Amino acid sequence: MKPSIHYYNETAGLTENRYLNYINGEWKPSSTGAFIENINPATGEVLGEVTQSTAADVEEAVQAARAAQKSWRLVPAPERAEILYEVGRLLKERKEHLAQVLTSEMGKVIAEARGEVQEAIDMAYYMAGEGRRMFGDTTQAEMPNKFAMSIRVPVGVAGLITPWNFPIAIASWKSLPALVTGNAVIWKPANETPFMAYEFVRIYEEAGLPKGLINLVYGSGGEVGEAMVGHPDIDIISFTGSNEVGAVINEKAGRMLKRTSLEMGGKNAITVLEDADIDLAVDGILWSAYGTSGQRCTACSRIIVHKSVKEQLEEKLVERIAKLRIGNGLDESVDVGPVINRSALERIDEYVRIGVHEGARLLCGGRILGETDGISGGHYYAPTLFTDVTADMRIAQEEIFGPVTALIPVKSLEEAIEVNNSVKFGLSSSIFTRDVNRVFQAMRDFDTGIVYVNAGTTGAEIHLPFGGTKGTGNGHRDSGVASLDVYTEWRSVYVDY
Ligand code: GLU
Repeated sequence: MKPSIHYYNETAGLTENRYLNYINGEWKPSSTGAFIENINPATGEVLGEVTQSTAADVEEAVQAARAAQKSWRLVPAPERAEILYEVGRLLKERKEHLAQVLTSEMGKVIAEARGEVQEAIDMAYYMAGEGRRMFGDTTQAEMPNKFAMSIRVPVGVAGLITPWNFPIAIASWKSLPALVTGNAVIWKPANETPFMAYEFVRIYEEAGLPKGLINLVYGSGGEVGEAMVGHPDIDIISFTGSNEVGAVINEKAGRMLKRTSLEMGGKNAITVLEDADIDLAVDGILWSAYGTSGQRCTACSRIIVHKSVKEQLEEKLVERIAKLRIGNGLDESVDVGPVINRSALERIDEYVRIGVHEGARLLCGGRILGETDGISGGHYYAPTLFTDVTADMRIAQEEIFGPVTALIPVKSLEEAIEVNNSVKFGLSSSIFTRDVNRVFQAMRDFDTGIVYVNAGTTGAEIHLPFGGTKGTGNGHRDSGVASLDVYTEWRSVYVDY
């Protein structure tokens, strides 16, 4: 599918499928005039070209954002929220179109793409509601004739750096709270998903967001991301991506005492105890390990199983994995789509070689799919399951970001908790059991930002904080009401009368 199926004209920034920056309400190519190709991972087809910006484009965006934020911060929050309601309405109206574009650009199957767009819709309405809440506290003053309260004020200009795996959901988790709280935004989306960024910005524009409040700057992390992090007039950086890049951002921003909200990787585990409903656990594992081809930071990449049910679980998993239909996610009958690009395919395959070398037993998958599998074009990896993995192996420690999961046998819940917590990440974990006491023990002892009970490790809802501990995050959260803490400062006010 070509992105030219849409209903906008060339003045809206999409000229012959060229994705342009959006700065101060104008669509324009970067100052260098350089473009890179955007490829459909399911077919290898070129979808368009993305402008590649430099620090000069970031500078222009910062000037526009700073100027626009001056008056935006004075607009009453319920009025700012009116624009978010309209954003929600437009997202809803275009849901199917957006889902189709999303699948074409990054490959997740169409049902998942619809779910992702729905997340952005929910987030728009939820954050619009915050325009009428955004609560502070009032408290008893210590002196007579005095009033004491706290209010939220915007941070200023927010720099958002978002990944390709959830191109609209994660962009919504960041931009909507930033805007409703009175900030201006500079957004660098991933180069792999420019059309989603274009569509989202178009929606903000149509919803009536004044110019300069959202600025889109396409380009590389090394050039644009770096310029954003180092810019003294960008007050906060919110980043979702790899642990390595997050650490670099943290260091650079830290030296400037700049606020950062970092959401990085995961090495998430599903624990299956001996009293679990095994069929339910199989459903949870399949969905979490192979959904989005394992390219979620919440993906299940470890299965911690009680040894008494290990063989039963292995058998059922292998049987169900064999039935997964792999192909272009635009086909409604497909369960698992492609991975994002050739280098991802090679990295995943390399991890599989590492697993075999480490002595793990490959139960199924473990190879790049091609013509002999009835697949042509695109980048597809066979859903892969390792067993007899030990907690210290690299395939049990490092984030693979592909459809590969590692089964680790254990003897008790205590050992499962130890294994669950033995990785540098702390995003999501899950337990399958029928014993309520063990449920509460896992809730208490799993060292992750999200814990699921009798469900897989993916599918977080937008009303609760999203993020993790240890190498996953730096204490800030996306999505739910906790995200307001990223985009606002607290001001304590004392009024004597
Ligand atoms: N929303 C996704 C989930 O809960 C995760 C987002 C991500 O992978 O970054 O599965």
